[in-house]
Amino acid sequence: MQTRRAVFLDRDGTLNEDTGYPADFRQVHIYPAAFEAVRLLKQAGFAAVVVTHQSGVGRGYFDAAELEALHRRFEEEFARRGAPLDAIYSCPHAPDVSGEACSCAKPQPGLGIRAARDLGLDLGASFMVGDKTVDIRFGLAIGAVPVLVLTGYGRAASAELAAQGLRPAHTAAGILDAASWILAQGRPTGHGPV
Ligand SMILES: [Mg+2]
Ligand SMILES: [Zn+2]
Repeated sequence: MQTRRAVFLDRDGTLNEDTGYPADFRQVHIYPAAFEAVRLLKQAGFAAVVVTHQSGVGRGYFDAAELEALHRRFEEEFARRGAPLDAIYSCPHAPDVSGEACSCAKPQPGLGIRAARDLGLDLGASFMVGDKTVDIRFGLAIGAVPVLVLTGYGRAASAELAAQGLRPAHTAAGILDAASWILAQGRPTGHGPV
């Protein structure tokens, strides 16, 4: 049974500053609020799943092993702060590589489908948080509730989405604000006996 709810999290611009193509963990600046946000979501029973486009691999800026090493450090940092991530899924493909099949770049649902299969997730009861239009479109593509953060490219995305007639379920100032909103959605509203 696929009953576990997840919060899918974009990486750059959502959990950490978008600094281009970091090849080394020392170039990654995680927003301090991201640890608190993931901690709260995990405490509420959500799986925390990072879905990220790392085209620096396909572009040849760094290789898959280096990305893997960076992500191990990334996971260690969250675990050390009491906010363990369940998984990190990456699309390594460059957008303009012709002939290379890619079904994993957001907004395609590939990474979400893979995560659901691996972790037994209920996508329809899940959320997607990100700072770009593709993140919102990805959330919609997997049937999750899409939340836009205004960090990273969020402000530009907000205007872009409006121009496309797309509206995220919520627009949050940042990752902690997004987590608080998600937790409020899950909170029971009834007043009956427990
Ligand atoms: Mg991003
Ligand atoms: Zn891909």
